[in-house]
Amino acid sequence: MKSDATESDIRRVVETIESLGFKAHPMPGANRTAIGLTGNQGPVPTDPFADLPGVAECVRVTKPYKLVGRDLKHDKTIIKIGDAELGGEEPAIIAGVCAVESYEQTMLTAEVVAEMGCKWFRGGAFKPRTSPYAFQGLAEEGLKILADVRERFGLAIVTEAVDEPALDLCERYADVIQIGTRNSQNFSLLKRAGQARKPILLKRGMSSTLEEFLLAAEYVMSEGNYQVILCERGVRTFGSHSRFTPDLSVIPAAQRLSHLPIIFDPSHSTGNRETVIPMARAAIAVGADGILVDIHPYPERALCDGPQALLFDMFREMVGQLRAIAEIVKTHSAVHNVAAQGA
Ligand code: PEP
Ligand code: MN
Repeated sequence: MKSDATESDIRRVVETIESLGFKAHPMPGANRTAIGLTGNQGPVPTDPFADLPGVAECVRVTKPYKLVGRDLKHDKTIIKIGDAELGGEEPAIIAGVCAVESYEQTMLTAEVVAEMGCKWFRGGAFKPRTSPYAFQGLAEEGLKILADVRERFGLAIVTEAVDEPALDLCERYADVIQIGTRNSQNFSLLKRAGQARKPILLKRGMSSTLEEFLLAAEYVMSEGNYQVILCERGVRTFGSHSRFTPDLSVIPAAQRLSHLPIIFDPSHSTGNRETVIPMARAAIAVGADGILVDIHPYPERALCDGPQALLFDMFREMVGQLRAIAEIVKTHSAVHNVAAQGA
């Protein structure tokens, strides 16, 4: 739509799409609203839309991910929860515990996250564990602790839903619902996430190509939830020096194809606290929109993923470093944009 299109111009286009039996997806952007059309089996004639008031152009999207792609919506998607912002100028630091283990462990951690001026808190109440005998999370009790973190510190809460009943609960207590790597191609769960009225943090499947990753996001968006955050968390390779292999090259590649923000998880990708900070720095340097990181007050006693959890002092140091790198990246891309405009 044109930047001066009115609400009623937008509604008219949506109604026209629906009257033809298709699904309309209005997505507001910083400058203008894009309206996606899905549900068509073949090419759709543009004549019913081209001359409607407020329409700027009709674009045929040839890529399989229609709503995720930049062909449809060029403006970057920004996720906002109160004063927490992801996809904007500053990199978002989503820090917290791998698993909510107790009230005390979670509150001690949240205090440090808030102290560092971060706006987001992560914590798992439902844990997708490789072994059925490993700690599976505190379930609803854990979600209540997370809700207390929001209450006490004003942090936006990110937590994982491992299945549909868990998603129902997470939707009640959290601000952002995470879909983990192992569920990245669980299509019924992705569709349910698309019906949620909360943003979705979608991890890349550990062996997904970029196209498969974007199509997983498309599942969520095709159901009408356009608030999706992509998250690279490492892929399986033959290396044993790292739990997974962080694929930072997917970050600029995803940003070129998609308007969705993309963050990086240095904790689950490396599995080792000594490698977390260097990889987090690298992710911000390649332009990631943020990171998702595990910290713990006493990692040696953690019930889940202790070896990768940063100690509080390491976390404090990392935050300062990431902010400094982000400043350089911002200055550099401003110079780059001016140069591109001049060319
Ligand atoms: C997590 O973030 O807690 C998690 C289990 O991550 P992943 O799905 O990337 O393994
Ligand atoms: Mn974990």
